[in-house]
Amino acid sequence: MVIAVDGPAASGKGTIARALARHYGLPHLDTGLLYRAVAATVLRGGLDPTLEADAVSACGFEDELLADAWLRTDDVGKIASVVSAHPRVRAALLARQKAFATQPGGAVLDGRDIGTVIAPDADAKLFIQATPEIRAERRHRELQKAGLAPDMDTVLADIRARDERDSSRSDAPMVAAQDAVLLDTTTLSIEAAVQRAVELVETQR
Ligand code: C5P
Repeated sequence: MVIAVDGPAASGKGTIARALARHYGLPHLDTGLLYRAVAATVLRGGLDPTLEADAVSACGFEDELLADAWLRTDDVGKIASVVSAHPRVRAALLARQKAFATQPGGAVLDGRDIGTVIAPDADAKLFIQATPEIRAERRHRELQKAGLAPDMDTVLADIRARDERDSSRSDAPMVAAQDAVLLDTTTLSIEAAVQRAVELVETQR
């Protein structure tokens, strides 16, 4: 079984995708990490993320980079959303994601374009959403736990800017696939969101 989980930053899609992978005993790929690895390589190399050629040259990163905690920071996430708008960057990362999605036995992938581009024939598709305000609150809490103290307005502005960039790009914009089921986690606990996600997968498979 292939499960596609898409949605904006801090919607809960990563947590839900990991829980679904555990529940069904499937391998999981966080595709955002691939774009984050490109962004990190651009930053380390002093390259310009807005230049497609610079971003493309950063697509040959080593797999060990994917385990680097720095990739999960907001600074890298912001640049990931810039490099991911370049069609040639998306093309360079496509084969790896498609191969993961078509492996024998199935897989769970989460990202922005899994249900639309990477695995359009997925057995189950979820689009996870939540209000920008609650997503900013979640991100703010995470950042505080990590010892950072950003102000809430900045976090909310970053979330809105990333939504706007990811939704408005011409190549594989963030959009729910026509056959995706929407799951709004705004008022749900993690446990309730995961339980609902399993129920929704069961209705589709
Ligand atoms: O999900 P995450 O926040 O780690 O993704 C970082 C960025 O990578 C997103 O803001 C988006 O621009 C990009 N991305 C994408 N397509 C995906 C996954 C992530 O464009 N399938």
